[in-house]
Amino acid sequence: MYPRLEIDLDVLRENARILRERCSLWNVHPVIVTKGFLADPVLARMLWDLGFSSFADSNLPNLLRLRRLFGSQAELFLIRLPMSWELEILSEHSISPFVSHVEVLENLEAVARRTGKPSSVVFAVEGGDGREGFLFEELPQALEVLQHLFWVSLRGIATTLACLSGVLPDREVVERLLEVKRFFAEELQKEVVLSVGGTTFLSLWEEGRPPEGVDEVRFGEALLFGSDISRKRDIPWLRQGAFVISAEVVEVRAKEPLQGKALGYDAFGRQCVLQSSGPRRRILVALGKQDIDEDQLYFDDEHVTIVGATSNYLVLDVEESQRPYRVGDVVSFRAGYGAVLRAFLSPYVEKVYREKMGEGRT
Ligand SMILES: *Cc1c(COP(=O)(O)O)cnc(C)c1O
Repeated sequence: MYPRLEIDLDVLRENARILRERCSLWNVHPVIVTKGFLADPVLARMLWDLGFSSFADSNLPNLLRLRRLFGSQAELFLIRLPMSWELEILSEHSISPFVSHVEVLENLEAVARRTGKPSSVVFAVEGGDGREGFLFEELPQALEVLQHLFWVSLRGIATTLACLSGVLPDREVVERLLEVKRFFAEELQKEVVLSVGGTTFLSLWEEGRPPEGVDEVRFGEALLFGSDISRKRDIPWLRQGAFVISAEVVEVRAKEPLQGKALGYDAFGRQCVLQSSGPRRRILVALGKQDIDEDQLYFDDEHVTIVGATSNYLVLDVEESQRPYRVGDVVSFRAGYGAVLRAFLSPYVEKVYREKMGEGRT
């Protein structure tokens, strides 16, 4: 059945193994970010069997799935700031959330007192991406609030970069975070973990001058895609191409939008610009925005361009191609993060796991 997401378990297993070895060499604890594959049980189990036991996700249902799979041995983090209704569930299932407001600490204290379960949190620290986290100058006061709580303790501090604004990590931001870590550890008289993410941070270690004192690195992209999109690069020591999306061609025709007509907006509210290049051969693929992100699909025929996508069609311009595309053909694309995430979310996309028989459990 199509559309279909093909998942190459051998590639993922190899990436996981390499990352595990590198992290142990770099003396940094790896936390697998599972939001890109909805903590899919097959992949999660494979990672668990390879020795990973810390997982982070931005959606609670995925974390609960991991808790059910692995029991209390797994260390779980909610890396999206929690909504108020989630606090009780987090406390109940010993999932540590990122927190960036003292009100949330106080609410969690009340919840934990009620459930009788001690809770630990991670302070999100704004490192420059303009996304979530306490500002540096707010941290002493937040720490003071925390010190008055009984049921809530601090596990560590965390920063995320290159997610919203593309701000890349450097030694300066790491130095500032190390200062916070030392200050917190001294005040609390206990170990405080410094966690950084995502994949963009790996280059700090790759460059050979390891940031001493960073305890933990959270990554998803490196494992899944072997790439670092914040620098538009493939990571040379990892493998790419673990995910392929295949779908069926349902129309092949030379077409062009009707000329000389008033133009409005497309189905997604975007202003349209008329392209008048004469009729060109187009194929329609039964795959749409509901299933993928067309900006993150890579087709292996370099003479083909993606014209666009609607909810349920992907339209390709194949005019320049020598290949004889026909209705009923299956076309395949290498898929990036956004496309894979949506394919996992779409009930219309079948998930197929590929694995060479008997290979690789060494
Ligand atoms: C998504 C996310 C990550 C992982 O980022 P990748 O670029 O996929 O490695 C890490 N931390 C947080 C808070 C995230 O939201």
